[in-house]
Amino acid sequence: MSERKTVTSTDAVHAGEPKSKPYDAVPTPLVQSATYTFDDTAEIVAFTRGHHSEPERGEYGRYGNPTVRAVELRLAALEGTEDAALFASGMAAFTTGVLALVRGGQHVILFRDCYRMTLEFVIDVLGRYSVTHTLLDAGDVAALPAAVRPETRLVISESPTNPYLACIDLEALAAACKPLRTVKSLVDATFATPVNCRPAAFGVDLVVHSATKYLAGHNDVLAGVVCGSSGLISMIRDLRGVLGGVCDPHAAFLVGRGIKTLGLRIERQNATALALARRLEGHPRVERVFYPGLASHPSHLVARAQMHGFGGVVSFVVKGGLEAASHVVDRMQLARIAPSFGGVETLVEQPAVMSYYEMSTDERAAIGIADGLVRLSVGIEDEADLAEDLERALEDTVPSR
Ligand code: PLP
Repeated sequence: MSERKTVTSTDAVHAGEPKSKPYDAVPTPLVQSATYTFDDTAEIVAFTRGHHSEPERGEYGRYGNPTVRAVELRLAALEGTEDAALFASGMAAFTTGVLALVRGGQHVILFRDCYRMTLEFVIDVLGRYSVTHTLLDAGDVAALPAAVRPETRLVISESPTNPYLACIDLEALAAACKPLRTVKSLVDATFATPVNCRPAAFGVDLVVHSATKYLAGHNDVLAGVVCGSSGLISMIRDLRGVLGGVCDPHAAFLVGRGIKTLGLRIERQNATALALARRLEGHPRVERVFYPGLASHPSHLVARAQMHGFGGVVSFVVKGGLEAASHVVDRMQLARIAPSFGGVETLVEQPAVMSYYEMSTDERAAIGIADGLVRLSVGIEDEADLAEDLERALEDTVPSR
């Protein structure tokens, strides 16, 4: 499986799972325990000295849990990496992963269209600890070699990105980092999922997900994961034990359950999103549609070369600006207004009044966020119902000015 660029539904159900589970259960049982007992002090001594017959046995919940571990092994199998570490959220996964690799005086390169909190962490938080950074324009891998310095340790990217769904050339990104042995590449592949794209297959060192989104898939749990080589994940796991952003066993159980249907959900979301994107592209009230599966998308060729499907998020600009777009969002009935994406329920949001609400129109325009932009996270409802919901909402748009 590791040679393939994507995973199947069979992989989503079975990959990385032992055939027999404790208590002969079909799913991996939930072990909701914060700490683990030892028979006597001799057993603790054997464990702490590394002589225990079961070196992976439980000790204390911040250092590991069997339900969490089972999900980690499954995610590593799906991403085609040696190991994975599960966290309490996508941001806990990303920040712990970066802190494990980078120290004061070193340098990080990242792209302008990374997730807002990713930018904030690198620029504001790491900046306080003397970690410097270089921001590259979205997808500009060609600028990478000139940006690398002797103290560069990490190149951070996403693919696809939010909200315009730009896809970076992963092979080129990994190839630019590989010859520089001290520079690691990290890609946040939350929007892709291993069903649509596996960055490690292109040579990327670390793959991060907000498992809150497609991996768990039901808008009911926060979690995150970092996947990579045993050596890197071991460093990251050790730091997780210090910083404490561990995934609760119950949350891990929900992520594990969600992954079982990942293949089915993503195939459905890919198909519905593509159909809706095509429909929106021809709509007289829509100025522009952003979906990597459309030939009109700037990343279409890159996406076609490295993705199996193009994901479940469609962004589009409504003619008429802020008010017109708010009107469309408010008129949708099936789609619920909420931040986040990747769940079974269709969610809709207008970035100008949500993630970027505190900025002026000009400030938003400067970072490329159009006031009329709407982001639709397609769920698993029937395409015809979602199409009708969109058509009805758009029909009644306030006239463009
Ligand atoms: N990465 C991406 C691309 C995201 O969109 C988000 C959240 O929206 C995160 C990471 C952070 O994930 P979490 O909310 O699980 O911390």
